[in-house]
Amino acid sequence: MQEDAAAALRQAADWARTRAGAARRLARAALGLDRMRIGVAGLSGAGKTVFTTSLVHALVNGGSRRADLPLFAAALGAARWRASVEPLPDLPPFPYAAHLDGLTSDPPAWPQPTRAPCGLRLELVAEEPGARRVAIEIVDYPGEWLLDLDLLDLDYAAWSAAALERLQAHRGEAREAAGVWLGQALEAADDAGACARVVGGYAATLSHLRAAGLSFLQPGALLAPPAAPAPPPPAPLPATLAGGPLYRAMAARFVAYRDGFVLPFRRDHLARIDRQIVLVDLTGTLANGPEAFADARAALAASLRAFRYRRIPGLDALRGRIARVLVAATKIDHVATSQYLNARALLADALAGSAWAGSIARDRLRFEVLAAIRSTEDGWMRRDGAQRAALRGVLRGPGGVLRMLVPSDVPPQAPAAADWPEGGFVYAQFAPPDLRGHRARPFPNVNLDKALDHLVGDRLR
Ligand code: GDP
Repeated sequence: MQEDAAAALRQAADWARTRAGAARRLARAALGLDRMRIGVAGLSGAGKTVFTTSLVHALVNGGSRRADLPLFAAALGAARWRASVEPLPDLPPFPYAAHLDGLTSDPPAWPQPTRAPCGLRLELVAEEPGARRVAIEIVDYPGEWLLDLDLLDLDYAAWSAAALERLQAHRGEAREAAGVWLGQALEAADDAGACARVVGGYAATLSHLRAAGLSFLQPGALLAPPAAPAPPPPAPLPATLAGGPLYRAMAARFVAYRDGFVLPFRRDHLARIDRQIVLVDLTGTLANGPEAFADARAALAASLRAFRYRRIPGLDALRGRIARVLVAATKIDHVATSQYLNARALLADALAGSAWAGSIARDRLRFEVLAAIRSTEDGWMRRDGAQRAALRGVLRGPGGVLRMLVPSDVPPQAPAAADWPEGGFVYAQFAPPDLRGHRARPFPNVNLDKALDHLVGDRLR
């Protein structure tokens, strides 16, 4: 008799739980909590393609290899989840399967970077009564375009003044290249038909500056051209030419580009993103010297200013505001583990003190160091009579030599230009490790689990 009563009570409790679960699911769907769109941005070479491939691979396989991603596994809870990868209706597909093949081949190959916006949709379904679903959309787009968003608040004269001031602040070869181009632009002042030629010269100058390691380069479409037809980008001109034929034609180009390319980019892409990850090649930037480092810092601050953050939960979701941002220093496997804390401090220091950073709630913005695919192992070497933290890995390039080497340490704050170490900061590039055993298992990484938890954990729990 007592057993019957206990069984009836258990049944009633199960029924109540299922109903409560169904009600929760309906409420989540109504609030849009069962889907999210993650934006992955970074300047070219920052590691977007490798990161997106590794992130998707972790989302697909993390549920069955829980020990590999403990934070993500905890967010998934006890349920088993199925994952499927699907295209997005509004963007070209991110070639996940092809990148996975290349990485898990023998020898493994880094994926070819994707330059135009692309994406995919991951459908996660819990194998439990009610089959809870979460759709995670991942969109990859050029960080070069983020830098253009401040054009929206400027007119041609103001943009030109700021762009030329940055150009003229460079030193050495970069300054020379900029000077030669400006001379040509001045000669064409009376020729409204010279726009395309002047912009062509400016594009060549920007490519030169990028090769020298500089990042704050506008307009973005000159460095990361859109795949679809778009209004042609402008070049800046000095105010002394204002009123002349070339200046007037270029100002018209500026307005057409701002309103016909930058504005739709914000409206159609950025406004639909919930969570944003901004990838920064911190060690690569340090290796490029003090000027490139200061320039990258300014570019990062400008990119982050472009986002509009949520302040009022439900309402801001409807207004297309970003709920969380993760700024990550990629390829951190280029330095020894003992340097990770410094690297993270250096990344956060790059934005410390900016009025913008102070205006965001701490739990919305996070800094992390990351290796989407860890290619090196820690080791030790004797150097100049002392033990030094070293790395072992296969160097990138033909022949793939396995080497043990000592990379530069990472400073916790950017040194003043005068205190930059003699010989600079030196880091090697590595080939991917042998990933044949990882076709159905998350790749070896640094902090991918933390990134996943920050970006999607709250929506799964
Ligand atoms: P994107 O232009 O931002 O898409 O950059 P990619 O993702 O193509 O990365 C550029 C290059 O950086 C790759 O070809 C790799 O050589 C290197 N890289 C990217 N991520 C990692 C990483 O996690 N570890 C290491 N060691 N190298 C990486």
